[in-house]
Amino acid sequence: MERKFPNGRVLKLMVGDITRITADALVNAANSALAGGGGVDGAIHRAGGPSIMQELDRIRAKAGGCPTGSAVVTGAGRLPARFVFHAVGPVYRGGKGGEAELLASCYRTCLTLAEEHAVQTMAFPSISTGVYGYPIAEAGPIALAEVTQHLGQEDAKLMEVSFVLFSDADYRVYASCL
Ligand code: ADP
Repeated sequence: MERKFPNGRVLKLMVGDITRITADALVNAANSALAGGGGVDGAIHRAGGPSIMQELDRIRAKAGGCPTGSAVVTGAGRLPARFVFHAVGPVYRGGKGGEAELLASCYRTCLTLAEEHAVQTMAFPSISTGVYGYPIAEAGPIALAEVTQHLGQEDAKLMEVSFVLFSDADYRVYASCL
């Protein structure tokens, strides 16, 4: 499913494995220690190879990690991309601890990084809706609202954003929001 904007930008929804997607930037659902993990994080490091963690080691040594709601940039190793944006989504704790704003901030940070790095195509997973427990019916509208808002801008360099959902059920939630 896709949505075309009057300015030519495109938002796509698909089911798949984000490590198989070719794009200028792929987004990882990372943790604030930038230490790697399971889920999409593990898949990205396995497919991308050790250079990504070596870059994260250097970022960690300098900055100590990455705060929730923000993201850091590395190269993409063997992945068919130029960059990986490692975004740290919030752990869901009932929704009254600012999770919605932190999740929105993750997407906004990645969209800003995309503009700074002249990224034209990028792919997001559904941040925080795996191990971090964010209900996808609440996270989907936040993710789509941020990307829609960004792609609607006349001067966005970003041309195409894909959400790569990992199951048909997740896809249906995003599709119904869109
Ligand atoms: P978080 O800790 O932010 O919740 P997870 O990796 O546990 O991150 O899950 C985020 C989402 O990514 C989940 O919906 C999960 O099903 C999905 N996911 C896991 N592996 C992949 C993959 N290879 N490609 C795309 N999405 C994936």
